[in-house]
Amino acid sequence: MALLSLARDAVPAGVKIDLQLHQPYRTWLGLGRLRCEWCGERWGRHGCPPRESAVRLFVYTASPAQREAALLSGDLTTDDLRLRRRVRSSGAHRRKPRPYPTPEVGPRLVGASA
Ligand SMILES: [Zn+2]
Repeated sequence: MALLSLARDAVPAGVKIDLQLHQPYRTWLGLGRLRCEWCGERWGRHGCPPRESAVRLFVYTASPAQREAALLSGDLTTDDLRLRRRVRSSGAHRRKPRPYPTPEVGPRLVGASA
């Protein structure tokens, strides 16, 4: 029984709080661009990093019913649901190689000049 009720709400409390805190608002009396109410970041895809990670966790942990409720209440958009599937579908997030040579080159150069 306890397991059942646990499984029904696997979403961490912090995720729910983040979703409530990071809401869009329009600057300039509703005429400007959308910004995050909590951290002031530009709103939209990749706009507000804390919300994006909260959304990802929510989609991962929430039950289908919870997801539907979040969509209905406006806490989540259909764009948010697409977030998770796009993660790591390509190597896009791999680290770039350093633009400068590795530090090992330094000592060797010093040794050559001595
Ligand atoms: Zn935010």
